[in-house]
Order: sequence, then structure tokens, then C-alpha cells
Amino acid sequence: MPVFISYITLFIAILFLLSPVPAAADLAETLPASIVAVKTFQLEHKDVVAVAVETRLPAASVPGPLAYTFEPQYHITEKNNILTLTVAAQSTLPADSNAVTLVNFSPRLTRLATNSDNNSDFILTAAYSSRNTTATVTTVKRKRVMQPDDTIIFRTYLVLTFSDTLTTPLPKTIVLDPGHGGTALGATSNYLLEKELNLDITLLSRDIFCQHGYDVYMTRTDDSNPSLLDRADAANILQADAFLAIHNNSMPTDMPDAARKLYRGTTALYNSSAPKPAKELATLLANELAGTLHLHQYPLQDRPGLVVLNSSWVPAVIVEVAMMPHPQDAKLLSQRIYRQQAAQAIFQATDKYFSITALAARRN
Ligand SMILES: [Zn+2]
Repeated sequence: MPVFISYITLFIAILFLLSPVPAAADLAETLPASIVAVKTFQLEHKDVVAVAVETRLPAASVPGPLAYTFEPQYHITEKNNILTLTVAAQSTLPADSNAVTLVNFSPRLTRLATNSDNNSDFILTAAYSSRNTTATVTTVKRKRVMQPDDTIIFRTYLVLTFSDTLTTPLPKTIVLDPGHGGTALGATSNYLLEKELNLDITLLSRDIFCQHGYDVYMTRTDDSNPSLLDRADAANILQADAFLAIHNNSMPTDMPDAARKLYRGTTALYNSSAPKPAKELATLLANELAGTLHLHQYPLQDRPGLVVLNSSWVPAVIVEVAMMPHPQDAKLLSQRIYRQQAAQAIFQATDKYFSITALAARRN
């Protein structure tokens, strides 16, 4: 038998040597790529510029699209504290647009500009302070997205990060995501709109995180509705230490109204198959919310199918603060003092999570 197995092994080895290089690897060099967005993020201790480069492939044309990743062709030069990024891609941004804007000119990043010539390579220049700033360049991939026309969109961000060197170590970065917004109301019950409750609780949480020295980015601060992928991208681009989506819960609308009003309480959702599953963080959040607001607690939900949970490469949790159809939960949510308590609980649980993970890291 051993002889027989070794012949098979040899045969497989020869087949492997004769097989051509997978076509997907060749395609990477030749695909037309385009710049579809430039995003800027300005936090207390870092400024981040992310250039979104996309390519699109017919799903059937790529052998093993699961294994395929898109690597944009680019190069970086640095001279006199001016960083120049050149990408071999056509820009689809309007030529005269102010697509690249800095909301606040920080002490670190002082100027940002792109070339307006859409017929040549895309060029972005960033001037930064020579003092107290380090610049780093990384790439961050978005989850590939299957389109209705059976093509797949691959997006890779070229990420320039300008960090404060005076503060060491840099504080933890939290991305807070108030669920829904705009025409996406979320749950509606007892004269309450979920999108408004989510935003208010999240703004209150942001203030507490900031007071405790965290770097915080919010996916929306007004009644807008960023796409789910854009929300997860923010966490990935900023390499956040945690991504918290803040929601409020409801029972299915096809349930009889009387039955919907029976359920009250809090829960948290995580994704056990994510690169960083965050079940511990979800547990702490649900416990802290239930304890602080004296709410019933539902079992945690493992939800790998939810977009924000399956496109985040950092620990991500969705919290459902309370159940909007229940009269008592609704009464609680309608009062700011309880929304403030919910915000405090979200901070406490997350802060505890970092203390525990720091302790565990020291023991290993
Ligand atoms: Zn929701």
C-alpha cells in the first residue's frame, strides 16, 4: 500500500507542476480600475485619507473568485513632508468637485489635493506637519459584492494615516454607528422612530467615550443614511478597536399587535465566523445595558448574515437597547435620562472589554 500511495502522490505532484498559473492572478495586472471615492476621517489623534479603487469582473470569468483579491497598482513618494500617491486608475470623481475636503484642518494634515485630469493616472497629494506627525500607508479591502448582473465588484482602499506622535500609546479608536437614518426609519412604535433614538443614544455615548480619552468616529451625526458597507468600511479603514452599531428592537410587524407588546428587553448581536467575532464584547454590552436599565435580557444572537457584522474586520457588535413596541420599554426610551443611562452602559461595557483584553494580553 505505501508504494501505491506514493505513486498517486507523485502523479498529483506532476499534475500540479503542469497546471498553468491560475488565471485570476494574471487578471490582476490587466483589469481596468477606477477611483470611485476619496474619504477623509478626522479624529482627535489621527487624520486618515482613504482612496477607494474598484474593479468589476463577470463572476463566471474568474476561476475561484473566492480566492481572488484586487491589488491596485500604485506608488508613493515623499518629499519635504508632502506625500504623493499615484494610482494607475481612472478617476470617476467629477473633475471640478470638492470630493476631497478636509472638514477641519488639523495640526497634522494641512493640505489635501487631487489632480483634476481624469485622463491620466490619479494623483493625490497630502501635506502634513513636519513635527509630531507620522505618515503610514496601508491597504484595506472591502468585502466583494455580487451585483444583480452577475458581476462582482472588488474594492480596495489605499489608506494614508497621519498620526500624532506626541501621544503614546495612541488611545483606542471606537467607531459608533447609529442604525438607519433618512428615509430608513428603522422600527416605529409608540410614536417613536428608531433612527432618532439610535442617533441620540449614540451621540450621548460619543461624548462619554471622548471624555475618557477615546478617539471616536461616528458613521452619521445627522439624519443621513450611509450604506451598510460604508459604515463597516469606516471601522476597517480606521482599524478601529471596536465597531458598535446602536439600534433598538421590535418584533415582526406581521405578529398580532397584542403579542408584539409582550416582549421587552435588551440583546446584542455578533458574528461567530468573523475574523474577530466579539462575542465577549456582545456579552458585556447586553449585561451592562440590562443591569443599568433594569431590563430583561434576551440570549445573544449569532448573526453572520448581517452586512455590518460580516464586512467588518474589527470586533463588531450590534446592540438592541430595548424593545420599542413594549409600553414600558417605549416609555423608558422616550426619556433622555434613560437614553443617557444606555449611553453610559455602552461605554462601561466597552471600557471593561478593553481592560479585560489588556489583562489577558499581559498574561500571555
Ligand atoms: Zn435597527
